[in-house]
Amino acid sequence: MENCIFCKIVNGEIPSTKIYEDDKVLAFKDINPIAPIHILVIPKKHYESIIHIPDNEMDIISDIHKVINKIAKDMNFEQSGFRIVNNCGKDAGQEVKHIHYHIIGGKTLNWP
Ligand code: C5P
Repeated sequence: MENCIFCKIVNGEIPSTKIYEDDKVLAFKDINPIAPIHILVIPKKHYESIIHIPDNEMDIISDIHKVINKIAKDMNFEQSGFRIVNNCGKDAGQEVKHIHYHIIGGKTLNWP
């Protein structure tokens, strides 16, 4: 989508530090990490948020979670734990309007 910063990362117009890539999903390091490990996992196809994904394309959420599963194992998070965050819309403070899942870990995390 035009003017979407994450679409530009998918297309290679904006550089990123890639962690994982396949034909549908991309994972890259967050440029402003809030923890020692902070990775974003996105669908390559543009959807603004979960609300904008049609029922017949919802498999992409499973694809994203499979990638999160792989990255969590690669980061040795089985014992320590980690957090998955998906900010959805205005009240959640979603800044980038291309659905993304934050993988945050490497330290004890406060909640909320
Ligand atoms: O969930 P939210 O929309 O607030 O998060 C957007 C995230 O995208 C931020 O953590 C920000 O640091 C990250 N970002 C990035 N690379 C960019 C622009 C934003 O990693 N070029």
